[in-house]
Amino acid sequence: MVAFQRPSRGRNTEKKRVYHRRKVCRFCADTSLAINYKDAKSLRYFITERGKIIPRRISGTCARHQRVLTRTIKRARTIALLPYVGSLDRY
Ligand SMILES: [Zn+2]
Repeated sequence: MVAFQRPSRGRNTEKKRVYHRRKVCRFCADTSLAINYKDAKSLRYFITERGKIIPRRISGTCARHQRVLTRTIKRARTIALLPYVGSLDRY
């Protein structure tokens, strides 16, 4: 029977070890780091290749800073410092 999993002996629930690495918000860690809409180079770190804003569960940015960051990225987009959509030519 292929569908059956090997019964784990002892404990009935196999603990899946979720690697929980505490990501720290880089703006909280470094207070000198300012979120500036003119600083496209550092903002680029928070957007994907396709131009999407990286969610904070991935980037680790705290809610407060993510909020500021999102606004800043959107502002930077309107003045064409950041793309609305990144390179479409490569998949
Ligand atoms: Zn923060």
